[in-house]
Amino acid sequence: MPTPRHARLLTRVTTLAASLWILQSCSGGPTKTWTGPVDGNRAFEHVKNIVALGPRPSGSKALTQSAEYIRSEIAKLGLELKEQKFSDEAHAPGIEFHNLWCEIPGNDPKGRVMLVAAHYDTKRTTGHPDPEHNFHFVGAIDGGGASGLLIELARVLHGRKNKPTIWLTWFDGEESLPFDWQESEPTNLFGSRRFAAQMSADKKQASVMVLFDLVGSKNFKCDRDFASHKGLTELFAAAGNAMGASDRMHKYMSRMTDDHIPFRQKGVKVIDLIDYRWRTPEDRRWPGDHDTPAPDLYQRWWHTPEDDLDAMDPMALDFFGNLFMTALPEIEAKYFN
Ligand SMILES: [Zn+2]
Repeated sequence: MPTPRHARLLTRVTTLAASLWILQSCSGGPTKTWTGPVDGNRAFEHVKNIVALGPRPSGSKALTQSAEYIRSEIAKLGLELKEQKFSDEAHAPGIEFHNLWCEIPGNDPKGRVMLVAAHYDTKRTTGHPDPEHNFHFVGAIDGGGASGLLIELARVLHGRKNKPTIWLTWFDGEESLPFDWQESEPTNLFGSRRFAAQMSADKKQASVMVLFDLVGSKNFKCDRDFASHKGLTELFAAAGNAMGASDRMHKYMSRMTDDHIPFRQKGVKVIDLIDYRWRTPEDRRWPGDHDTPAPDLYQRWWHTPEDDLDAMDPMALDFFGNLFMTALPEIEAKYFN
């Protein structure tokens, strides 16, 4: 889970979008208007296997088990999962963090790297001293969805001739250790901050980073993140258009502090593909939004016990995966030529 800093709402919903929502409510599921190599049902199987391990906060046995699951699935493809272990005793005493990544070599003579990333830890809530925050949280969407999608993307990307070398990366320690995100404190984004620092130390800079977070919800959409690179944002909007899914793209906006920020700070072109807006139970609003009611169709599972498999739709994973695959040739042409 990331945090929004401020945002402005776009209230316009097109006639096309409205008619698609009606189709959905009649059929009980989304109308798939796109094609592509990513299989949302395969991705959802991975999510189910990961979520079955239970809450997976940093330092937990269940998170180690989910790393073992990812490792075994990656190994089935003939790929090797690598691991970066580290700790931060000052800010996370007693926790050992484990970032995971696997490399799919490309054919770029310059050897440039693209990161395709997600976080796989879940927010620690069980046993929280504040009763309001003490609940069972399996993070199906927040932690599970994008983690499972990356495994499916490994299968698809491994069978494709890619220009850049792709590092599929599962970050640990994205979630804030205090229940509420503290913007100026280093108590969140542990994995991405460490990974970005290590890449710099190794003089191995990524050119582009595509981050998935909070993907997999029913009534899915992809928000526009103002902390993301403008060119990439436009490129993904065009990809959504090409899929016939422009109604799901960039209708809502926010500015996220998420795992892409440590890389943006190092000059990487980053984008956060995220479905966050209107997912908070309190319908958080920003200046200018006071008169806008939260649309009823957006389930408010974020950081609540509602974030379970029932809140998910495999077609959301299908959508985000194929959105990436639709954008990829354009990313290669524009940033790896
Ligand atoms: Zn979260």
